[in-house]
Amino acid sequence: MARIHFLDVTNRDGVQTARLGLSKLQKTMINMYLNEMGIYQSEIGFPTTRHESFYLQANLELAEMGVLQPIRLGGWIRATVDDVERAFQLVPGIKHLNLSIPTSDQMIQGKFQGSLNREDIISMMIDAVEAARAYGTESVGVNAEDASRTETDFLARFGLAARDHGARRLRYCDTLGYDNPFTIYESARALAESVGMPIEVHCHGDLGMAVANSLAGARGTVDGGQDAYINTTVNGIGERAGNADLVATALAITKSRGFSERYQLEPPVDLTRAWKISRYASYAFGVPIPINQPGVGANVFAHGSGIHVDGVLKDPFNYELYSFDEVGRGVQEIVDTGSLICSGEYSGISGFKYLMGRMAVRFKNPAQAEKILELVRYANVASQRPLVEDELLFIAKYPGVARKLLTLIPPD
Ligand SMILES: [Zn+2]
Repeated sequence: MARIHFLDVTNRDGVQTARLGLSKLQKTMINMYLNEMGIYQSEIGFPTTRHESFYLQANLELAEMGVLQPIRLGGWIRATVDDVERAFQLVPGIKHLNLSIPTSDQMIQGKFQGSLNREDIISMMIDAVEAARAYGTESVGVNAEDASRTETDFLARFGLAARDHGARRLRYCDTLGYDNPFTIYESARALAESVGMPIEVHCHGDLGMAVANSLAGARGTVDGGQDAYINTTVNGIGERAGNADLVATALAITKSRGFSERYQLEPPVDLTRAWKISRYASYAFGVPIPINQPGVGANVFAHGSGIHVDGVLKDPFNYELYSFDEVGRGVQEIVDTGSLICSGEYSGISGFKYLMGRMAVRFKNPAQAEKILELVRYANVASQRPLVEDELLFIAKYPGVARKLLTLIPPD
């Protein structure tokens, strides 16, 4: 039986969103949390973008150190030979790539203005896939941008050509959130059957259906006999109305009526990490979690009206579909309401030692403490908000990696 895997794109689609972004350390923390949660792959960024180079290299180093394991780290580039060459020039260790090119007539004509036709699109993609394979890439996925507005036969031909030249997966991008669960089920199933290769479903929420479409697309793919890869983002952060929310999609797969009897996640997602990763992403992006967000919203386990409260007091399952501890909630948190010591770009040694001491971190000597403090200052410059405990611990534990993450050198 084919399975469903999660490929999170927070560090690509999420960070490319207008008015939002993450520092390189924050992106790394997202990868760490995704790994702890058991997510199959993280699309960690843009190997052709110069300011990503050190970050990408540092994360690949963490993978080699066994820290970012077993999660796979992938990069996103355009499906051109130039992008492939530049990616390997800037990030030679990259092992997994997704190559993207538009396939709809709307975009081929609307973006390339008559300079490319359908056949050019296929041959450009083939050349890019072959180039990526020649560099020894472990896996290449091919992204059909605007797949949902692409003519069915052409999309199948595009997918077959990708497979025949060594691609491992076809990403069906519902770039504009145009599909509904019924149409994406049919499209994904037909593609899985005709192309004979695993399908990624990449859904957007312009019509409020990103999670539902992801489930339907995954189901269509599995029914077509192929493994499905659902693209998610933490808190649904992504272009415009956003992507399929990671936690909501995992909940929908595991908790919705009858779904998991036939369609299963591999590896299973550890939902007890949901609260932590959602809260961190909210803080790092500076975007509050809506009170009614599935799993992690403030109201999701709150009850006020008489009949509901009476029912919950007798048995929570009267009005709760899943329990709060399943999504990692219910632990008491200590909130400082008096004096507050926090890190900043102008932090000094005594405040820093106080913060680290609260987490029982001791330093070998003053020089080591100074060195970590300096990195903490730089991390604050990049994120412009006090560091959370996990960030401070990360810097103290992996100062060499942190230094690389904090290095930004614009070219001459
Ligand atoms: Zn997208």
